[in-house]
Amino acid sequence: MKFATRLLTFDPAPGDRFIPANTPIYQTATFRQQDATEFGEYDYSRSGNPTRAVVEKQIAALENGTRGFCFSTGLAAITAVTRLVSPGEEILACDDLYGGTYRLFSRILTKRGINVRYVDFNNLDAVAASLNSNTKLIYLESPTNPLLQVIDIRAVAGIAHRNGVLVCVDNSTMSPYLQRPLELGADIVLHSATKFLCGHSDVMAGAVVVSDDELGEELYLIQNGEGGGLAPFDSFLLLRGMKTLSLRLDRQQSNARKIAEWLDAQPAVERVYYPGLADEPQLRVHRAQASGDGAVLSFVTGDAEFSRAIVEATKLFNITVSFGGVNSTISLPNYMSHASIPQHLRQQKSIPADLVRISVGAEDVEDLLDDLGQAFEFASRQNVEARAVAAD
Ligand SMILES: *Cc1c(COP(=O)(O)O)cnc(C)c1O
Repeated sequence: MKFATRLLTFDPAPGDRFIPANTPIYQTATFRQQDATEFGEYDYSRSGNPTRAVVEKQIAALENGTRGFCFSTGLAAITAVTRLVSPGEEILACDDLYGGTYRLFSRILTKRGINVRYVDFNNLDAVAASLNSNTKLIYLESPTNPLLQVIDIRAVAGIAHRNGVLVCVDNSTMSPYLQRPLELGADIVLHSATKFLCGHSDVMAGAVVVSDDELGEELYLIQNGEGGGLAPFDSFLLLRGMKTLSLRLDRQQSNARKIAEWLDAQPAVERVYYPGLADEPQLRVHRAQASGDGAVLSFVTGDAEFSRAIVEATKLFNITVSFGGVNSTISLPNYMSHASIPQHLRQQKSIPADLVRISVGAEDVEDLLDDLGQAFEFASRQNVEARAVAAD
């Protein structure tokens, strides 16, 4: 079956005697047992809940893995993966990461005796040279957010496996519709399911998928033992959102391409960051590992005030953190989602103050382009006025 069919074709309620056509919300903490000594499939919702089990099985299938685990947020999912690393061991991470992941790694993991080192993953020699006998996990995103840098997942997985190291890929910007890291050699794929998987900015969730049984057992122990599993109602919302993943992304992606091209043609825009507009060899790598460019893009104008004026003048693009919802959003990553990264590192990792990130929604693209057009005009007028004041 093709992907769009698989999104809609699964058993919504295994074993339910009423045979519902959709997954019920099993809103219960406990399950009665027939027998005082032998337990049935479910006993306590932290350990397992039928609504969560359906969404976990479905996300595992979509990523072409065998076991899936859903957590209360994306960061809870990332935390669970970091539990595979013991004190004294190391994580080698890409130096372009989501701000909250960076905060978890640098301010919480280091206190637990786990050293995290950051390397530019576009430099594969540096990745290989940075591994040592303590390295347990390699961690990356591709394309990265907000600079949309493409990392060669196959190449990194090759280096990792020659050295007995696990590779985890945060696939939040692509979703399994456009990229499936396990097929490229990753051991673990994870999501902030808050983003494209849910797609409506109305629920927080995280997901981890693996295809190795032993890793699956370890992750189950962590999910049950630490208690971060996704609640039944949120599992239902996630599952509901996932059904329209390809429908939403087809529209959002086609809108994003038109907006990226429009931005690229603006004299006020210095550079657009979008996988489809990337230079070689990034474009070649992206085309070899993903089937689309997604709906997140960013651009720089060379002038932080000008960028800010654009962001504030748009009417259809909500100023919010996050991405992946059906509504278009706009933000200044240096001030918002990546503010948790210390200033000196933001500069080093070059998240410029004039960088504008857009998550393109499912609106009519003509309206979105009109809105950006008026925002650019507004920002230019402001700029002229500011210069006139300065000249006085
Ligand atoms: C948002 C995000 C996260 C964190 O997920 P939450 O659901 O907000 O906890 C992790 N990685 C990436 C790439 C993200 O965009």
